[in-house]
Amino acid sequence: MLGGDIELDPTNGQTGASMGKTVWIGEVQDGLYDGKTVELKGWIKRTRGSNKMRFIVLRDSTGEIQCVGKKDTIGEESFLALKEALIESSVILNGTVNVDERSEGGHELVVNAVEIVGAVDPERPFPINKEALDVVDEDGEPMPGGSEFLLNHRHLYLRTSRMTTMLKLRSSAFGAIHNYFRAGDFIEYQAPNFVAGAVEGGSTLFEVPYFDKVAYLTQSWQLYAEAAMPALERLYTIAPSFRAEESRTRRHLTEFWHAEMEVAWATNDEIMAHGEGVVRHIASTLLDERESELTSLNRDLDAIARYADSPYPKMRYDEAVEILQSKGVEVEWGEDLDYSKEKILTQDFDLPHFLTHYPKIAKPFYHRVDPDDEKYVLCHDLLAPEGYGEIIGGGERTWSEEEILRRLDEEGTPHEPYQFYIDTRSYGGVPHGGFGLGVDRVVSWLAGASHIREVIPFPRTSRRVTP
Ligand code: ATP
Ligand code: MN
Repeated sequence: MLGGDIELDPTNGQTGASMGKTVWIGEVQDGLYDGKTVELKGWIKRTRGSNKMRFIVLRDSTGEIQCVGKKDTIGEESFLALKEALIESSVILNGTVNVDERSEGGHELVVNAVEIVGAVDPERPFPINKEALDVVDEDGEPMPGGSEFLLNHRHLYLRTSRMTTMLKLRSSAFGAIHNYFRAGDFIEYQAPNFVAGAVEGGSTLFEVPYFDKVAYLTQSWQLYAEAAMPALERLYTIAPSFRAEESRTRRHLTEFWHAEMEVAWATNDEIMAHGEGVVRHIASTLLDERESELTSLNRDLDAIARYADSPYPKMRYDEAVEILQSKGVEVEWGEDLDYSKEKILTQDFDLPHFLTHYPKIAKPFYHRVDPDDEKYVLCHDLLAPEGYGEIIGGGERTWSEEEILRRLDEEGTPHEPYQFYIDTRSYGGVPHGGFGLGVDRVVSWLAGASHIREVIPFPRTSRRVTP
C-alpha cells in the first residue's frame, strides 16, 4: 500500500549495511566511539613515521583523524602496506578509538588491521601538494584553487579541505532556498533550457544549433514562469542559467545556478520581502548547519548573524548615484551600475541593501514602469555588503497587454519570439513580479570566497569548459 506505509529511510534502517560503512570520522571526533573498536573507511591525507610506527591522517567526508599503526601490533605485512600507501590511497583501518588531547580533534585511532582498497601508483603520486595549493595572483593576493594547474586538476582539487567546505556550504544554501519557498507554499516549477528569445539582452546569449534552426540557452526561467503565474500564483525554481559573459570578474560564470521566484498580485515591496526572507534564511541555515565550516574559513559569525537577523535597508537608485558622485565616482544618471560601482557603494555597508527605482532606460521591457513617475521602473537589486555587490535582481513586471507592446516597440524588440509572453497578458493579465538570486554569488559572499569559482565544482567561464 502506498501512502502512510512508505518507509522514509531509503536504506530501510540498514544504513550501515547498504552504504558499506557504519562509522564516520566526524562522529568519532564527536566522542561517539571512545574506547571502542571501529572500522574506519577513508582516504589518506598525510602520512609520516619510522620503521616501527606510522602516523596516518585519515579523512572522510565528515572529518579527519590521526591513526597510529605499530609494527608490533599489526604485523610485518600490514605495516609494510601502511608504510608504502601514498596520499589519497583509499584504505580501511580497524582499530581502537583513544581520547588523546594532543591529536587534532581530540581522538586517535590505534590501528590493529589494515586493508588498502585503492592504492596510488608511486609512479603517479597525487598531483596536488602543499606548494600547488599556495597560489597568489599578480598582486600577491591568495587565489585558492585559481591557478591553471589547479583548474586543470579540478576533478582532484574537489577533495581538498577548502573545496569540500565550500561544497558543504553550497549544499546547505540550496536546502535553505527550497525550505524557504516550500514553507511559503510556493510550487517548484521547471522551464525549458532551450529557448527562442533573450531575457537579459542579446549580447550574452549562447546560440546553439537546433536541427535546421538556431536556439539559445536560457538566461533566466522568468518568462516561462510568468506563463504559469496565472496557474500556480506562487512559483519558484533552482536551475542553471547561461550567459555568454566575456567580462572576467570575480562574480560572473557562464553557467550559474539561479534561484528564481514569481508571485501573482504582488508589489515590489512584497517581492523584496521575499528576497530578504530567503537571504536571511540562507544565512541562518549556514549558522545552524555549518558553523564549524564557516569558522574554518575565518568567517565573522557575528556578521553572518547580522545578515540573518536584521532587516535590510532600502535606497532609491538616485540616492545611490548621489553617494557615488560624492565619493568622486564618475557615474551618469540612467546607466546601470556595474560591479566596479557596486563595489565602492557597498564597501561600507554592514548589511545587504536594496536599490529600487532604476531609470526605465537602464532596464529591459518587462520591468513595470512606475505609474507615479514614468522615468523609473518598479524594480530592485539586492546588493551584498563587504564590497560584494548584486546578488538579486527583481521587481514588478509589465502586465497590461497594451503596455508590454509599447515597451517592446520602444526597445525595437520583435514581438514574434515573445508572442507566448504577450498572450499571458491578453488572457487575464494581473499585477505580478519576482526575482532572480544568484546562488553561487550568495554562497561566495557568505563564505568570503575570493572568487565565485571557489563555490561551484566545475566552474564555467569564458576561458574554460574543461574538465
Ligand atoms: P550583473 O549586472 O552582476 O551582471 P545582472 O543584472 O545581469 O547581473 P540579473 O539578470 O538581474 O543579473 O540576474 C539575477 C541574478 O543572477 C543576479 O543578481 C546575480 O546574482 C545572478 N547572476 C547574473 N549573472 C550571473 C553570472 N554571469 N554569474 C553568476 N551569477 C549571475
Ligand atoms: Mn540585475
